[in-house]
Amino acid sequence: MPLKKDPQHGGTEADGRKSTMYCSHCYRNGKFILPDISAVQMQARVKRKMMEKGFPGFIAGLFARNVPKLERWTKAPMREDNLMKEETF
Ligand SMILES: [Zn+2]
Repeated sequence: MPLKKDPQHGGTEADGRKSTMYCSHCYRNGKFILPDISAVQMQARVKRKMMEKGFPGFIAGLFARNVPKLERWTKAPMREDNLMKEETF
């Protein structure tokens, strides 16, 4: 959720600092609360949570649309190393 709307104003790093990347519902003590959730599952979850908190559906939808761009999903899946394993030399 938007960190400004987070009652805790962000999740916490392992050393207790506030995270500037993730909210308190996603991230606590340096770990993701739902480490295996997919971006699509998270989009649905974020949208539902925001609407529960009284955000209009279109605002919740706009926010959820950018969820897959978060670092936790964009940095992992496709490294060149992984692509090359499939090839035969
Ligand atoms: Zn969050």
